[in-house]
Amino acid sequence: RIVLGIESSCDETGVGLVRLGADGGVELLSDAVASSVDQHARFGGVVPEIASRAHLEAMAPTTTRALDGAGLRLSDVDAVAVTAGPGLAGALMVGVAAAKGYAAALGVPLYGVNHLAGHVAVDTLEHGPLPRRCLALLVSGGHTQLLLVEGVGERITEIGSTIDDAAGEAYDKVARILDLPYPGGPPIDRMAKEGDPAAIAFPRGMTGPRDAKFDFSFSGLKTAVARWVEGEQRAGREIPVADVCASFQEAVADVLTAKAVRAARELEVTTLVISGGVAANSRLSGLARERCAAARIELRVPRPRLCTDNGAMIAALGAHVLAAGAPPSSLDLSADPGLPVHTLVR
Ligand code: ATP
Ligand code: MG
Ligand code: FE
Repeated sequence: RIVLGIESSCDETGVGLVRLGADGGVELLSDAVASSVDQHARFGGVVPEIASRAHLEAMAPTTTRALDGAGLRLSDVDAVAVTAGPGLAGALMVGVAAAKGYAAALGVPLYGVNHLAGHVAVDTLEHGPLPRRCLALLVSGGHTQLLLVEGVGERITEIGSTIDDAAGEAYDKVARILDLPYPGGPPIDRMAKEGDPAAIAFPRGMTGPRDAKFDFSFSGLKTAVARWVEGEQRAGREIPVADVCASFQEAVADVLTAKAVRAARELEVTTLVISGGVAANSRLSGLARERCAAARIELRVPRPRLCTDNGAMIAALGAHVLAAGAPPSSLDLSADPGLPVHTLVR
């Protein structure tokens, strides 16, 4: 069966197509994405009104591109999945309205699914079926969470999350402090390659003996970077941008990987999936690879294009919930900007 997936929770309009096999396996057929990121760059963050308007303009052409890419027609689609939340209310509404229209016109079931769970489900398009129990570290612009996955279309439970900023948000804020472009992840990743990760001892948030084991905090780290940079500026010294990037990046990768490996050990799972935009970070995946190998944990990181927001991840999750026999959403489906990760279908 062919599942069409629509994503519009933030600044990417994504439409993807997957095939659900009789054995429950999923195969990527196409993945078209239009991003309004350039329109937000000068504001240093996503402007909701601009994002909604861009989704409206991009939805139909992106759907056409996805169908063309798969060599399919709309009438070949057997089910429609759409991000029902979490995300920006106005942005989500555009995707949900489009999905309802397609589902109603085609007379096929509609699944309003969870964006965060989609970031996990996408890995099955790249690396095949996930084991029955596994751990996922979701690191994106808006979220940083450790998730226990017990059937990707069936049960996902949050075991830890950030208490303040998301990891990607910290990258974006530190980039701003250093006058690097938005979004901050890619330029910091690039600059860090020329810097010394041990140059500055930035704090590792939430790693004290009384801190929650699986929660994260990145706001103190961002403040520490800001203070350090201000101190150097006051002293009239030039900022060693590469060293700041490398030291900041090391602090983020250290805490994320240490907590993920610890959680995998304690929950006795042997597979870790890292996904979300920050999973594209070279040091995060490098350090995760080292630490997972040492702890005998299988590490799965989807390719960067699938880690950032896209429609294929929503189609993949739609296929998994369909295969698990979840009841479809009603055609009255509305978006929920605060949809919790354990609600896989709304
Ligand atoms: P969410 O999925 O939580 O709703 P989002 O849609 O903003 O949020 P993504 O598109 O998955 O998230 O990821 C965007 C984030 O990833 C940005 O904060 C960006 O800086 C970060 N990012 C992208 N590439 C890298 C990289 N190489 N290193 C670190 N961070 C990166
Ligand atoms: Mg984005
Ligand atoms: Fe996302």
